Amino acid sequence: MTSLAELDKRTLIHPHSVVGAPAEPLVLDRGSGALLWDTEGREYIDGTCGLWQCPVGHGRAELASVAAEQIARLEFFSSFGDYSNAPAIRLAERLLSLAPNGIERVFLTNGGSEGNETAIKLARLAHHHAGSPERTVILARSGGYHGMGGGSLAATGIDGLRAGFGPLLPDVEWLDKPHGIEHGPDATEHLVAELERRIAEIGAHRIAAFIGEPVLGVGGMVPPPEGYWPRVQEVLRRNGILFIADEIVTAFGRTGHWFGSEYFGIEPDMIVTAKGITSGYIPMGAVLIGRRVLELAGGATFLHGFTYNGHPVGAAVALANIGIIERENLCERARVLGARLRTRLDPLAELPHVREVRGVGLMLGIEFDGTPAAPVQSGCRADGVVVRASGTSIVLSPPLVITGEQLDTLADVLCRHVTAAAG
Ligand code: PLP
Repeated sequence: MTSLAELDKRTLIHPHSVVGAPAEPLVLDRGSGALLWDTEGREYIDGTCGLWQCPVGHGRAELASVAAEQIARLEFFSSFGDYSNAPAIRLAERLLSLAPNGIERVFLTNGGSEGNETAIKLARLAHHHAGSPERTVILARSGGYHGMGGGSLAATGIDGLRAGFGPLLPDVEWLDKPHGIEHGPDATEHLVAELERRIAEIGAHRIAAFIGEPVLGVGGMVPPPEGYWPRVQEVLRRNGILFIADEIVTAFGRTGHWFGSEYFGIEPDMIVTAKGITSGYIPMGAVLIGRRVLELAGGATFLHGFTYNGHPVGAAVALANIGIIERENLCERARVLGARLRTRLDPLAELPHVREVRGVGLMLGIEFDGTPAAPVQSGCRADGVVVRASGTSIVLSPPLVITGEQLDTLADVLCRHVTAAAG
């Protein structure tokens, strides 16, 4: 009989894979908490949540029941125009109760890229409607990742990801990667001065919005240098530029707070979320929209929407998932476990091939100096621990429910392979 792995290679094209040259797949079968099992019965500790989407951990029967009940009651109906449904309304109310100051409305989506497309379009529309149609420029940062759509990819500052697709959304302008070690002790001064200079060069009257992740995710789990975010926010406000925080990774507990914006003390004009909103049990996202955007866009028709926006099943699962994060105090847990993991990983920074060990809450990165990260990922996996290589970094974002013991095993295995990578 053909194995699942063989069948996979003959039938699927995976995201981020080489067409016509399929990799040997790891076929996963089930999960529970921070553990995963493949179809051969091998057990793995999940140090990544796959794509950092699963604060509550795998295999929650409670979320399966909520989804099943909602499907049986009302599986879906459009929320375009004047149609609505109870879970979508309740979810919006809940998100507003958790969101930072100034957030007043919610636009529900199916995922991260779609949320950023929505935020970018809404920022441009808001200025257009308010009498500044020339404000079309989006300021984005080198090393940032915002997704795979025409606009979200255009604002993604990782060159390899944009190559080969021809022209994307025009009017994206670039800022330096907000990475402390690349700019020295005056990194924040340098980055804020650069922001001011770029705004003067482009002309504030042409800039619609700035987009950035509170902590760079795909770019290597890089927190910005001390004091960066409030300074950036002040410059943007002073210049009438809307501030879009891409919190697709950082929201719902990962930084030790409901939102990374809370951790950094900022109040963005739009906060884009996805992933952790349902812990990935079903595709869902939400764009949280602030007062300034609503003032500019008030009265404009937003001719934008995807069929499954406001999906009642996604919204019901999101509500239950948020309930678990609150009930089990997972924000606090991310802080405690993040500190425990840092204690184990920080000594790696002494190794000659390790450039930096860094992170916030339970999202950590280890950056190598020229040494490839991929062998560390494969070595760990062979030893039953899933971590992710992203460029020259290993990035970690385990489920927030990971046990202390599992976290220690993960650290032991990872330290062994990072040390061996010195080659
Ligand atoms: N923004 C950030 C910060 C992300 O990490 C991701 C996905 O990893 C996205 C946007 C895109 O989200 P999605 O893959 O759900 O479209």
